[in-house]
Amino acid sequence: MIDVKEYNNKVVSTWCPGCGNFGIHMALKKAFSELDIAPKDAFITFDIGCNGNGADKINVNAFKGLHGRSVPLAVGVKLANRKLTVIADIGDGGTLHEGIDHLIHAIRSNYDITILIHNNQNFALTTGQATATTQEKKKMYGLPDGRPEREINIAEMALSFNSTFVARAYSGDIVQLTEILKKAIKHKGCSIVEVMQYCPTYNKEASPKWFQEHIEKLEKPFKTKEEAIKASDMKESIITGILFEDPDLPTYYDQLENRKDIKTELIDEVKSFNIDNLLEKFK
Ligand code: SF4
Ligand code: MG
Repeated sequence: MIDVKEYNNKVVSTWCPGCGNFGIHMALKKAFSELDIAPKDAFITFDIGCNGNGADKINVNAFKGLHGRSVPLAVGVKLANRKLTVIADIGDGGTLHEGIDHLIHAIRSNYDITILIHNNQNFALTTGQATATTQEKKKMYGLPDGRPEREINIAEMALSFNSTFVARAYSGDIVQLTEILKKAIKHKGCSIVEVMQYCPTYNKEASPKWFQEHIEKLEKPFKTKEEAIKASDMKESIITGILFEDPDLPTYYDQLENRKDIKTELIDEVKSFNIDNLLEKFK
């Protein structure tokens, strides 16, 4: 097992005291450590947001892109080099606003990546505006009379698109989140991990006490997608654990006829071309 300190770096965190991002990063580091995935073999793509400010706070390969675009970046990395463990790190705002098309197509294509969604139910970096996961009627910055529309339930939506792995976790339960992340990383296909993230600055109501009173832990995944959808509604309790897993659907890459029996990675096949002659034409 690799020492968990190997994933630390010296960058000072800018997250608020008590932010759930600390717990999520701790669980990520523990999952890498316990799976013996060295920092050089892990790649996390980030977007803009409080979650995205974690890009320089974990010692693995990382790339920080535009808001909502963690998923296509992760897909590109994985298709280029399947030897890497690839995680798309993204918030609820990025996932369900600019990034919703990427989420749907990653699920549909069953790319072999893990999509780790920090769901704090607000756009926290820009001072707490409502996102698509903010509850209907909840008063938010810019919405003093309450949010007029219905919310989207991430796990339910992922299941409805026939996702091959859907889990929900809580940022304050590092032990359970670590176990979920280990299984999500090992899942061959697109694994969705929605983490209910405590944001003490802009979503105080969803406090650790509130989570403790509402969380029910699931022992093992539901057998059918329909059962998992029913349990994911969050009306009375928040069920955490792996809600559903289908290990049999092939990944996108494994379906590619033109890659059958090819042992090299795409990154090994990149060739150098001398383009001096071509450039001469434009002089
Ligand atoms: Fe964390 Fe919320 Fe502070 Fe952002 S605003 S760092 S999500 S507590
Ligand atoms: Mg958010």
